[in-house]
Parts: sequence; C-alpha cells; structure tokens
Amino acid sequence: MSRIASVLLPMPLPEAFDYAEPEGMGLELGDQVAAPLGPRLLRGVVVGLREAAGGNRPLKPVEGRLEEPRLPANTVEFIQWAARYAVDAPGQPLAIALRGARAPKPRPARVTVLTGVEPARATPARIRVLETARAQALSPPDLARASGVSSGVVKALLDEGVLAVRLVESEARFDEPDPARPGARLNASQAAAAEALKSVLGEGGFNVALLDGVTGSGKTEVYLEAAAAVLAADPAAQVLILLPEIALTQAVIARVASRFGAQPGEWHSDVAPPARRRVWEAVARGRCRIVVGARSALFLPFPYLKLIVVDEEHDASFKQEEGFIYHARDLAVVRGRIEGAGVVLASATPSLETLRNAEAGRYRWLRLSTRHGVAQLPDIELIDLRETPPEHGRWLSPPLVKAMGETFARGEQTLLFLNRRGYAPLVLCKACGERMTAPDTDSWLVEHRYSGRLVCHLTGFSMPKPKACPHCGAHDSLVSIGPGVERVEEEARNLFPEARVAVFSSDTVFDAREARRMIEAMADGQIDILVATQAAAKGHNFPNLTLVGVVDADLGLRGGDLRAAERTYQLLAQATGRAGRRDRPGKALLQTWAPEHAVMQALRAQDRDAFVAAEMGERELAGLPPFGRLAAVIASGTDPVQLDAFVRAMAQAAPNSEGVEVYGPADAPLGLIRGRRRKRFLVRADRSVDLSAYMATWRARVRPPASVRVAIDIDPYSFL
Ligand SMILES: [Zn+2]
Repeated sequence: MSRIASVLLPMPLPEAFDYAEPEGMGLELGDQVAAPLGPRLLRGVVVGLREAAGGNRPLKPVEGRLEEPRLPANTVEFIQWAARYAVDAPGQPLAIALRGARAPKPRPARVTVLTGVEPARATPARIRVLETARAQALSPPDLARASGVSSGVVKALLDEGVLAVRLVESEARFDEPDPARPGARLNASQAAAAEALKSVLGEGGFNVALLDGVTGSGKTEVYLEAAAAVLAADPAAQVLILLPEIALTQAVIARVASRFGAQPGEWHSDVAPPARRRVWEAVARGRCRIVVGARSALFLPFPYLKLIVVDEEHDASFKQEEGFIYHARDLAVVRGRIEGAGVVLASATPSLETLRNAEAGRYRWLRLSTRHGVAQLPDIELIDLRETPPEHGRWLSPPLVKAMGETFARGEQTLLFLNRRGYAPLVLCKACGERMTAPDTDSWLVEHRYSGRLVCHLTGFSMPKPKACPHCGAHDSLVSIGPGVERVEEEARNLFPEARVAVFSSDTVFDAREARRMIEAMADGQIDILVATQAAAKGHNFPNLTLVGVVDADLGLRGGDLRAAERTYQLLAQATGRAGRRDRPGKALLQTWAPEHAVMQALRAQDRDAFVAAEMGERELAGLPPFGRLAAVIASGTDPVQLDAFVRAMAQAAPNSEGVEVYGPADAPLGLIRGRRRKRFLVRADRSVDLSAYMATWRARVRPPASVRVAIDIDPYSFL
C-alpha cells in the first residue's frame, strides 16, 4: 500500500496539500520535505500520513526529504492550534516556525592544523606557533596573534606544508548550562517565592504561575532559580524566556550567562540569519537548553520544552499586529499546555486578563512584596498643570524644574519620561493653518530635528522639512506643535547647560548593542538627565537615578481604547518605579491636567489593587475582556466603491449567534494607510462563546474581491 502525505507549506494557503509518498521514503510526521507547487519546489512540513484508498486521482509525489531536523509533533500541533485560534492559514505560523530553518547556514570556519610534516628550521617563534596550533584550532591570523608572532611566520609554515588550512562546519551546539552554580543571594521574600515556584513546577506537567512583584523586587533572580530547578531535574529539559523588547534581552542574557556559566540561545529580529540558523538547529536537536528571545521564539521547534517564562507579561509588545496576528503571552500558555510545561508570567503590573485568572485560581499567584536590597518605593506626587503650568513654549513645569535642579546639585540622575518620539508630533503652517500629513496615510507627520525630516510613524514615509508651506507657499511659516523627546531634551539642555543630557528612543538607539551602551552609560553615571520613551522605562536598574519626571502623564489616556487606563497605569508605574534604588529614596513627579482621574490617584497612592478593582468593575459591567471576548475585522482596499460594497455584504453575512454582538462597519480611526481605505467591525462575545469558530464561519461566507484584504484580529489591542 502506498501512503499519502499531507504537507503544510509556509505560505497563506487555507490548508495542507496532499502528495504521494514515493516508495521507500519512510516519511514521518514533522519531516521537512521538498514538494512541488505549480512549477516551483517548496519546503514544507509533513503534518499527516494516511494509507491511500484505491481509485483516487493520482497525486504528485513528494520530491524528497530534506536533511534537516524534524519538527516535533508538539510544535506541529501548536502551529495548527494557533492558526485555528487566530482564524488564519496554518502556513502563516509555520512560516514563523521555519524562519530559522530557512536562514543560511553559518559559513564554515577556516582553521589551521598540523600536517605532520617537520619544519625545516625550528626557531623559538616557529615552536610557539606549532605548540599553539596543537592546542587549539585557530584561523591563521588568530594563530599568529595567539602565538605572539608576525603573520609571516605562520605563512611560511603554511608554504612549507607544516601547517594546512581546513574548513570546518561550525557546529550547532551551545555550552551546557550548569544549574548547580551558586545563584544570586535572595532576600526572604524572593526566597519564599522561589521555593513556592519550584514546588509548583516540581509537580510536573502544565501549570501557570503569576510572579507578581513591584518594580525592583528582583523577579528575574526568582525565575532563574526556578529555571535552575527545572534544568537540574531533567538533563534534557529546555527553558524559554520571552521578553517584550530587544533592549531588555541583552541584560537578561548576561544574567542567564552568569547564573548558568553558559550563553543561552538568542532569538529576535536583530540576530543575523546564520546565527539564527544555528540557534534554530540547536534547539531542534535539543542542544540548546535555554533560549532568551522576543515573541517569535515561541515558535521554535523545542523537542522537550519544560518551562516558559513570559517576563513583563503585561507588555503590549507581545501582541504581533501585522501578518500573523497573535499575542505571545496567550499563546505561551497554550504552548505550555500542549507541551505539559510550566509557564511563569512575571510582572510588576500584571494585565487584567492575568489577574483575573489568578483571582479565579486558574493561575498560582505568587506575590513578591519587598524591593530588592533596602530600596524603598519612590514618593509619587502629582503636578497639577492647571495651577503650575510651564512657561509659554516650554513643557517642564516650575516644580519639576526645581526638583531637577536639586537632583543635579546632589550629583544624582533624572529620567524624563515622554512616550513620544521625535521633536514635535505636529507641524502646521501659521499662514494658512495646513497640517502636514503623509501623502497616502491619515496621520500627521512627526518632526525629527536630528535628521531634519518629517516622518510618518505608521508607514516610515519621510521627507525633508520644506522651507515653504507646500499648501500656500508662505516662507518660514511652519511651526512645531507639542513636544517629543527631542524637544524636551533641548529644553533640558537650555535649563541645565552644564548637565550631560541624552535621549533614548527607537530613533536614537537603533539596535540591541546601542541600547546596551546607552543603558550602561546611564548606569555608570555618565548621563545626568536622560529623556526617554518607554524603551528605557522598562526593567533597567539605574542605582543613581532618584528623580523621574513624567512630562505628559495624560498622554496615554487620550484616544480612549479599551486598555487606555490600564496601559497608562502600567507604563507610569514602570516609569516611576525606576526612581530610587539601593539606599537612596526616589521621587517621581507626574505632570497632569487631570489629577483627579482614577489612574493618577491610584499612581499617587501606589494603590494598584484599588485601580485594578475599579477597572475590573467597569469591564465586567460592559462585558469586555477579561469578562467577555472581542474580535476585530479590518477590511482595506484601494477601490472605495468595492470596499463599501464588500463591507455591506459582510455585515449581511454575519451569523446570528446567542451572546455575540457585531458592531460596524465603520470607518477605522485611521481611515487611510498607504493609500488603502480601511473599515472596521468590532465583535463582542460572552466568554462561553467560541469566538474563533464564529469568526471562521463568518469569513467563509464572504469572498472579498481581489482589491480588498480582510484581517481578523482576535482579542485586539489596537483599535485604530
Ligand atoms: Zn501654508
């Protein structure tokens, strides 16, 4: 009997395709194969095998099995589960899972080896080279350097045939982590949490724990001890640590390396393709036991995953908004269930979804009460901008400026937090009132002074700042409205000319290395005033930072989406939590126009529980997450008539279902991106409804014209 192989291809196709298995190929589930699609030969993964029934039309055969690691069955199951949940094609998450497999292999290394030929002459320099080459396989330049000789000595030995150059494949192997190395010294609160976590994980199987501790309470040390226990208990166990920001990975990698005496695998978009390939292969072969990475690391082919840590679990960066739309924290819990692994969600300001699960007893709730060392939480004060506004054309109010002056005089550091990149969020013409907008997108252009350009933060479009108004032609009429970090930096420099002022945002800090350099400069005291977006507000420890000034505490509350208050609370609690470490008390000042707002009052009182209780109450009344489910549909198109007709037909086709309400279609708040008009539906459902199944049924009932794209977003975080 011959067999049929179901092969999933890493592209947006609705399902796996059937191929005939050639005689004797002996395919297994998870095998990577080459399969023909039209005229092309594509890499795919075997996701099903069955005996062929007689009488079917003949199928194209699988071309061949690739000499590549097999995807573990759990990984394949996870990919299919994720696609069904996201109402998307399974080839989409498969493409993420194969990203490392498709990256080019690292180039083979050139090493110098002894041939056994005796040298004609034996000078002391030559003897040193031969001894070094016997001990280590090095490239010719490294061999010369390690032996302390000129490159000519090595070259002469190569020419004589005493040494030869060989190419060796660099092996996909990582050093074994050593969980028995001594860990960090834990305080009583950390030790108690670590013991509780170890006992939860020691039960084995699927378990979720929330590690809930104020900023600076030392959650990383606690979960590293839990990871040590998991690695020690099983010599094959693998551990994944997920982080929301590339800037944070460097610090955590350094701590993992020092705790376990071995570099973990590093996985994010800044990792070069050959290094990515090496991590992917080592993970698949079980030779890389700890991975530290961004959200897409969740799709790596771990054969034996026993622990997933999601650090800063509340962070919205875990939501992937383009292409395959998913939330890495939610999928981490799913992957943990499929793998029978422990999951640790760590945060100082957990999401309402996670807190709800902890309250309901679905997650174990471990609270770390005290800050690490003797540091105290900072004093938090609100600056009412209605009473003490900044001077005209400035953004820092007199009380904040005074506190900055005192901090600088004491030789301590200030962090000014403003979650807005660039110099000014809006440029307008004072002659005609025209606002500078992107040509094919509904967004204002943001002025960047460092580059002298106007930039669209949505699409990346940019243009030089024009000399004359493009609308009315007036000269020198364009004025910058509102502050971004660059403008606050300018103000700080003018106020404190002798202070060292720096900006930290994704425009000034391009990659992980630069971020690390900036963070080290701040930690070393080489910066007096750091003006930063959220990129610097998370997870870093600056021992001499004693003042945090929040320039616009109300910023996140505008725009009013579902999580505006929650996100503002989380972000500002993180930012203000940077102040005061070790033995220095810190202070945080929040500039606000609405000091009576519940978020501001909760921040001032440092009463997270009161804020959470109030916010939960409102969500429950409205049946919104975590008490109900949401999904969004975004239809976009280049032809407005076709788009309108399609969304009307889609509204007609919405299935009637108890506990489901469909709102829309409506123009999206961002009505135009890259020349495509956008319409939205919002769907609210009771918790008991299988919203993914509902959305899949709906989608199957309509067929968009070629000019229209439809994206479904389960549990949306963006409402634009
Ligand atoms: Zn004008």
